[in-house]
Amino acid sequence: MQYVPDPYADPVDAATRLSPDTPVACFCPQALSAQAGRFLTGFAGLTSYAVKANPRREVLETLAAAGISAFDVASVEEMRAVRAVAPAAVLHYHNPVRSQGEIAEARRMGVASWSVDDAGELAKIAPGAGDEIAVRLALKVPGAAYDFGTKFGVGPEQAAALLRAVAACGARPSITFHPGTQCADAAAWSAYIRAAAEVARAAGVALHRLNVGGGFAANRDGQAPDLEHVFATIAGATAQAFEVPPALVCEPGRGLVSEAVTLITRIKAIRGDGSVFLNDGLYGGLAELRDMATPRRLRIVTPDGAERAGRPVPRVVFGPTCDSVDRLPGEIALPEGLCEGDFLLWPGMGAYALALNTGFNGYGVARTVTVSAGLA
Ligand SMILES: *Cc1c(COP(=O)(O)O)cnc(C)c1O
Repeated sequence: MQYVPDPYADPVDAATRLSPDTPVACFCPQALSAQAGRFLTGFAGLTSYAVKANPRREVLETLAAAGISAFDVASVEEMRAVRAVAPAAVLHYHNPVRSQGEIAEARRMGVASWSVDDAGELAKIAPGAGDEIAVRLALKVPGAAYDFGTKFGVGPEQAAALLRAVAACGARPSITFHPGTQCADAAAWSAYIRAAAEVARAAGVALHRLNVGGGFAANRDGQAPDLEHVFATIAGATAQAFEVPPALVCEPGRGLVSEAVTLITRIKAIRGDGSVFLNDGLYGGLAELRDMATPRRLRIVTPDGAERAGRPVPRVVFGPTCDSVDRLPGEIALPEGLCEGDFLLWPGMGAYALALNTGFNGYGVARTVTVSAGLA
């Protein structure tokens, strides 16, 4: 994907001056640095960026420059991407399942922090005293938009057994969990932290660190989530649950990078029945809409940059590919006077949108430009 670092003032400026026929990602380094600053000053521990949310070079570079020194990686390719911009960064390899080849490559790249949820996978790592092994705990806790606990993680009893096995290897035992992405309820973290303390007590193991995962919510409906409240809840719950509180780590993806990108899409056609054909869809930058509710922060702008006013009318919106699956879920309220050539601007698309962009059928986000500010 082409990246153009010369800045436009904001996404409306980029849309009107470029008048793009294909979707464009507007990357705002200032917004990303500012959000990194919130984590670095507000979270009472180490902030490790979950690379899968947005592995693009300009994002990794901006985060490293802002002071993020640890990265949660799930594949060798992600390790390479981090090493290319931050050779001295700490890598946490927190995909609990790895091939022998991946383990060898990770060792070569200096990985010393791993997660496990299975005794066989622990044995495969053959951990030594220099390794931190975080046991991945999974609980049935509500609060997230998308549950991560159905694939990875073990319940408290198995977690305690694994933690004992980690300690027996001589490695540094930690616990990690992920409350699920876009987790709007701080109580999910408290529940996990209390359970982690009980697991450590049951195992008779003092934790090296407690990794409270990602899941920090992004602004999807116009209401900016209260990140500092989540930080305070995590710190408070840890102090209360442990006699000797372990050092904390968090690994945000979405909550860190979401606001850094606004996606410019454009109306290709409006058909006789009022349905809209957009130049991007479920195979491109809007892939997440299949699994998560459609964000309600859409801005509709005319080709000359004016706000498209008018009574909201629910419309069927299709993506550009020839697959009939390529339709945005439900109907989307768009102004009555909507015209072909209008722009639909989607703020808060820095997380997962570009990572899931496939290029299927020759469509998708092909270009990233820099903006000095996001949408007002
Ligand atoms: C995906 C992932 C994250 C980031 O999750 P967000 O919801 O984007 O914050 C963090 N840790 C692990 C292990 C993950 O798989």
